[in-house]
Amino acid sequence: MTGYLVLADHVLTGFTADGTPEILENAGVLVEGERIVAVGPADELRRAHPEAAEIGGRGRFLMPGLVNAHHHVGMTPFQMGARDQPLELWFPERLVMRDVDPRLDTLYSAFEMIASGVTTVQHLHSRAPGDTDAVVARAETIVGAYAEIGMRVSYSFALRDQNRMIYAADEDFVAMLPEPLRGPTMAYLSGFGLPLAEQVAVFHALRGRYEGDPLIAIQIAPSNLHWLSDAALESAARMASDTGAPMHMHLLETPYQRDYAHRRSGGSAVAHMDRFGLIGPQTTIGHGVWMTPDDLALVRERGACLCHNCSSNLRLKSGRLDLNAVLAADVPTAIGIDEAGINDDRDMLQEMRLVLTHHRPPGHDAPAPSAAQVLRMATEHGAATTPFAGRIGRLAPGLLADLVLLDWPAVTRPWQDPRMPLVDVLVRRAKAQAVEAVMIGGRVVYAEGRFTRVDREDVFSALAAALDRPDTTAEDERRRLAAALLGPVRDFYRGWLDGG
Ligand SMILES: [Zn+2]
Repeated sequence: MTGYLVLADHVLTGFTADGTPEILENAGVLVEGERIVAVGPADELRRAHPEAAEIGGRGRFLMPGLVNAHHHVGMTPFQMGARDQPLELWFPERLVMRDVDPRLDTLYSAFEMIASGVTTVQHLHSRAPGDTDAVVARAETIVGAYAEIGMRVSYSFALRDQNRMIYAADEDFVAMLPEPLRGPTMAYLSGFGLPLAEQVAVFHALRGRYEGDPLIAIQIAPSNLHWLSDAALESAARMASDTGAPMHMHLLETPYQRDYAHRRSGGSAVAHMDRFGLIGPQTTIGHGVWMTPDDLALVRERGACLCHNCSSNLRLKSGRLDLNAVLAADVPTAIGIDEAGINDDRDMLQEMRLVLTHHRPPGHDAPAPSAAQVLRMATEHGAATTPFAGRIGRLAPGLLADLVLLDWPAVTRPWQDPRMPLVDVLVRRAKAQAVEAVMIGGRVVYAEGRFTRVDREDVFSALAAALDRPDTTAEDERRRLAAALLGPVRDFYRGWLDGG
């Protein structure tokens, strides 16, 4: 096998145990098949492997591929007509979203992610209508779109067996509504009523289907405490112990979710999950904004990870994670763009910049994340929250060849003081236009602004053509329902945060 030599002026291979960036100068990696087989000085690699094709070279910065550790959809809710709302009101608001072809939808955000240096996505599929076969077919279409573009994906279909619209039973919600809304609301909710046992069957079917696939892994996603009965929590724990698959779980995203946990369990959501063995090294908590110091201590003790969804927390008025406390506790924490970032896209370079900037409280001695901590979140720690943990997120012999080449003059143009640390310059200044090439599993999937396996313009044209039409009857009904349900949902939560 002849392989590729990927060379650069600066090669960020990863971080030392204490978080210091490890950067080699005039160096590169040798890639054979899907793996990195050597890392070292450019001259030595060239001498030892004169037959290898060269990529990169002078003026380049090479780093591990980024991981978007929390992702749901392609076309954003805002693009599809759903306004940013506080999370609990956003659930009915989202009914206005129109139906879109899942392949085109998945490719749409995959373009944005890859073009900003993301090589692995944690795709948390929130809901799909229909029976087991329909859900599995939709999952296969989504996973197939990632395979088509050549992106690494950790896919999960969310487990959920209750409280689909508010933090109370569907029947109770329907009973609160004016009579004319009850039938349409029940009909809508029951469209997503796949029984728990069949949701578990979806997981096992997909796991069997993709076992051994180099780019695809299936994990478990207990959706959130309010969406799961205790029986469902037991199922999730059993799925994890039976298969060893990691799990990603939304938790404590808003203060209403904190209050819900108190009402249900008399304590914290983290403590309740822990009773089921759901807080452990295999667990990643998505959001975790309203964790108490005791929750954080428990997460640390159990060896669980966290995923910080900074843009989402801002857009949905969820609150601000105390990231500095999380970093001080040494809990491995990933970055997730969730539905969409502050530019309504999936630009990981921008999301890193937001994380770097958002957690700088006043006070000369107050803590703030370093650029190195943020980049480690988006690489090594993001990798730790996926089934690819330990195989991606760094550049070292034996690891999978997921790499990003940056055009460094494009990052620094027209001038950057060279005494500024490279990682600081990267996180503060690198834009997606500076991403020159992206390799995933040893294959170049993006180079010089073009995707090598899928034509972006074709997909954009198909999306525009598919959506430029009047609402279908079903969409029209959902739009009316969204408008009608917003008030009752708002009423349900009135007084919650007053302790009422
Ligand atoms: Zn989410």
